[in-house]
Amino acid sequence: MKKIRVNLDKKVASTYEICIGYDVLDRIGLLIAKNMPALHYIIITDFNISAIYGKLLLDRLRAMSLPADIIDFAAGEGAKNIGTATSIVERLIKLGADRKSALVALGGGVVGDVTGFVASTFMRSIPYIQIPTTLVAQVDSSIGGKTAIDLPEGKNLLGTFYQPKGVFIDVKFLDTLPEEEMSNGLAEVIKYGVIDNVEVFNFLERNIKAIKERDRGVLEEMIENACRIKKAIVEIDEKELGIRRVLNFGHTIGHAIEAESNYTISHGAAVSLGMVAAARISEIMHDFPHRDRERIEHLLESAGLSGRIPQAITTDGIMARLRADKKKEGDTIHFVLLKKMGMPFINGGVPESLLRETVEGLKK
Ligand code: ADP
Ligand code: ZN
Repeated sequence: MKKIRVNLDKKVASTYEICIGYDVLDRIGLLIAKNMPALHYIIITDFNISAIYGKLLLDRLRAMSLPADIIDFAAGEGAKNIGTATSIVERLIKLGADRKSALVALGGGVVGDVTGFVASTFMRSIPYIQIPTTLVAQVDSSIGGKTAIDLPEGKNLLGTFYQPKGVFIDVKFLDTLPEEEMSNGLAEVIKYGVIDNVEVFNFLERNIKAIKERDRGVLEEMIENACRIKKAIVEIDEKELGIRRVLNFGHTIGHAIEAESNYTISHGAAVSLGMVAAARISEIMHDFPHRDRERIEHLLESAGLSGRIPQAITTDGIMARLRADKKKEGDTIHFVLLKKMGMPFINGGVPESLLRETVEGLKK
């Protein structure tokens, strides 16, 4: 298994490992016992993952004489709410969980966010680990300690920064992941290549076919590279005060499109459109090379990410969302733009007319 150490706050207490391998559920059981000793382990997962992998993991833990139980809830972003969080807490109490218990998040971003949120607040916090099962979770949401639930007023409005005791990635989980979920994850990996590491971008270009065919070796290498990039950025800026903002590349316009579509467009497809928009704006405003902009668009397309905003979604609607973006400060909307591949920067001054034109251009 490959290991990546995440060092936060320069305190030993907040240091943990990301372990990556293929078909490593057995070893994950051992690592949980070693990294997060507890009197009671509670696996938190959604119904889909519970049906495929829940019992498998439960049996592994119990086989090592670790007292373990499982709590599951409905799959999908719709379940990432306060009702689910309270229901998990109620079931934890029924199972006799206390401060000597620990949570195991087995699932995608939704499970990871909700479990982290419950772990950070239940009895004023108990430890948890992440076992991400989607590509998005493996390369992005499980790393960095962001936890959250959604409110009717918006996504991720209630949450904490709370680091797990470990992140254990079994690439084999991806064998059963639906195609669209795979593309969602690829959007984030391509983002890392564009904002941080041209070699990773080149690797993706060379191997996109093998990735889509879920070649085990290529996926392992890709996920390891992605985790290294995310961990390096998170280490420098745990609380997203500075450099971590470059991770929002493609996300400002992406979030606006996603929300305006009423979440019928997936996060990955929306971020992909956002990245195309940011690259086009970068070319016009900051001489980002035309050829590299084309390479980005081509790679996103090969990854199965749609290159068009559906006609039913209005430019006015997207513009209104952009103005209301929660990451905006004062009157300027912050965009992550590119000088060159691997060289992002934050620009607060994109003229509204150019924004509008770019969004319009994404509809054709
Ligand atoms: P994300 O990680 O993209 O935020 P979710 O947590 O919403 O996404 O998970 C996306 C969907 O994929 C959910 O319906 C979930 O149950 C399902 N899922 C997660 N991991 C797997 C897997 N390894 N195999 C099959 N389905 C999975
Ligand atoms: Zn994202």
